[in-house]
Amino acid sequence: MHPDLDATRHGPARTGLIRALARGFLGRCPHCGTGKVFRRFLKVRPECDACGLALHHHRADDLPPYLVIFLVAHVVGYLILETEMGYDVPLWFQLSFWPAATLGMALGLLQPVKGAVVGLQYALGMHGFATLPSGGPAAPRGEEPRLGPADERATDTHPGLGPA
Ligand SMILES: [Zn+2]
Repeated sequence: MHPDLDATRHGPARTGLIRALARGFLGRCPHCGTGKVFRRFLKVRPECDACGLALHHHRADDLPPYLVIFLVAHVVGYLILETEMGYDVPLWFQLSFWPAATLGMALGLLQPVKGAVVGLQYALGMHGFATLPSGGPAAPRGEEPRLGPADERATDTHPGLGPA
């Protein structure tokens, strides 16, 4: 049986933290791994078209660009210092290559990092992600909490800590 499926009692179980992050980074639904998170660049789908997991209530907000700036600045800053100290690189190359490399890395990482942030919120049961599709919650939809951590009684799992 697929490790994500516990169909005997609760339907599909919540995906573990690391796998949810990896699926989101690759643009895949953190719950099923087959549907897509984005419908176009940086635009999250309202729900997964494969498993029906609602994605519209994610709150990635400013975290993806913050993480991308943190990562790209450290990599590019290190490489600029390394080439400046170790090689005789012409100024025109420094002034043209590093801005282009910074822009390319930032744009290339932004969507994968946003997908991973959506996967993080899913794995932790944040916001609306406390409710799983297809028989996940025991409580009716009207009783789900709008904010705060996952309702343990509703999901019957330990987000991020289960065997997944
Ligand atoms: Zn899905």
